[in-house]
Amino acid sequence: KILVMSGKGGVGKSTVAANLAVSLMLAGKRVGLLDVDIHGPSIPKMLGLERAHISTEMGNIIPVELGDLRVMSIGFLLDDDDAVVWRGPMKAGVIRQFLKDVEWGDLDYLVIDAPPGTGDEPLSVCQLIEDADGAVVVATPQDVAIAAVRKSITFCRQLNLPVLGIVENMSGFICPHCGKTTEVFKCGGAERMATQMNVPFLGRIPIDPAVGQACDAGGPYVHYYEGTETAKAFRKIADAILSLSAQSTGDAVCDD
Ligand code: ADP
Repeated sequence: KILVMSGKGGVGKSTVAANLAVSLMLAGKRVGLLDVDIHGPSIPKMLGLERAHISTEMGNIIPVELGDLRVMSIGFLLDDDDAVVWRGPMKAGVIRQFLKDVEWGDLDYLVIDAPPGTGDEPLSVCQLIEDADGAVVVATPQDVAIAAVRKSITFCRQLNLPVLGIVENMSGFICPHCGKTTEVFKCGGAERMATQMNVPFLGRIPIDPAVGQACDAGGPYVHYYEGTETAKAFRKIADAILSLSAQSTGDAVCDD
């Protein structure tokens, strides 16, 4: 059970969660993707599932299937323009139901797109998810984003949630014409911060306009743009997660 977290919104947390889940699925794993970002559920849109409806069976919620990926999002219960204006206890109730009553079946990985920040909602999610294996924290390179990530790491430590690693998203732009990298924001801050705070660094994901296009079109980027440097960067992060699991279970990892 992997929580994908971020210190603030808009850094690509949902993009990383969706592409990590799809990469793990493409690596042959049984994967669930749970979107608990109550105020900004973007997973249905990113995966082209806006029209999907959930069903129930014997009181349990059946997730929506996308190939071998099982997906559950608060977005499935809302219309496009609905805003969630519930107070804290109501949100905690929905989060609890999401976490307890979804019939996931047998999964190798459950990737959880958690609410941003270090407030009430991420706190409820972390407290309600039993046996979470850890958090992947997404940052962008700017100092303001890095400062927010430090708080996320402290938050995880206070909750005894292991930090599996930091991802620096929007880390440079690789020109599709000349292959040269432009540091749109200064890069490398997340890696330095990871070293300072003694947590693993999982990798950098460059900016690619096709990420936004794929998200808007509802097609998983890592699948439709698999040859790009950015897709390779997403896959490297999935590989790091796969080898972490292999280390903890003692399985052999294939380098291919
Ligand atoms: P968050 O979940 O942190 O609020 P999102 O995952 O919704 O952020 O991403 C915000 C926007 O940034 C989306 O439009 C997404 O397509 C875009 N985006 C995220 N990562 C990248 C990237 N590496 N390159 C280009 N666009 C990106």
